[in-house]
Amino acid sequence: MRILETTFVQGVVDETAVLYDGTPHIAFIGRSNVGKSSTLNAITGKRKLVKVGQTPGKTREINFFKARLELEDKQQTSVYLVDLPGYGYAKLSKTQRNQLKELIFWYLKHPTADTALVCIVIDSKVGITDHDREIIEVLNAHDKKFIIAVNKIDKLNQKSRHALVQSLTQELGDTTAYVMYSATTNKHINLLQEAIFNGI
Ligand code: GDP
Repeated sequence: MRILETTFVQGVVDETAVLYDGTPHIAFIGRSNVGKSSTLNAITGKRKLVKVGQTPGKTREINFFKARLELEDKQQTSVYLVDLPGYGYAKLSKTQRNQLKELIFWYLKHPTADTALVCIVIDSKVGITDHDREIIEVLNAHDKKFIIAVNKIDKLNQKSRHALVQSLTQELGDTTAYVMYSATTNKHINLLQEAIFNGI
């Protein structure tokens, strides 16, 4: 599989045709600063698809990008990469935080959106937080498939990586897949791409 081209399509805030035009969505969600934008850039090989280091909480829309893929058998297909706003940023006002949460949960609970997979991006130094657990609960309740994308492994030494694997396995069991990678060094980005695009 390789991505031939990725282009911005639309910022979504409510019902619109792209939600269910038959193109499968791969949605990315994560707390502000986990490296969600860097991850999207690394996956697509476009350094400036999404701006890195944005002021947390600035993005208030769900950004849809269309990626054209070439599959193993050389067939081509398209998916939407869906960039959900970063959540859990403490410095936003309560009203702003609630508005963001409402938008994110509206999408995650959407009964007819073509969501093929949700990729929950976490920071390997921080691990799974209660915010992530809340998202996981909603996804499970609505039968949405998800994986955990564990970013920034370049920051961990061997011992911390081992401890992280143990705690992730303990918390997630064998039903939820996770991939450890670095969006900065690109280490194991290929594994993340495989995990994401496998079912497409
Ligand atoms: P977002 O808020 O989740 O979209 O995060 P960004 O992609 O804007 O990244 C937040 C910060 O983390 C930036 O300073 C990035 O350079 C840094 N960052 C992102 N990915 C990695 C990574 O894999 N390793 C390291 N060390 N830093 C990263």
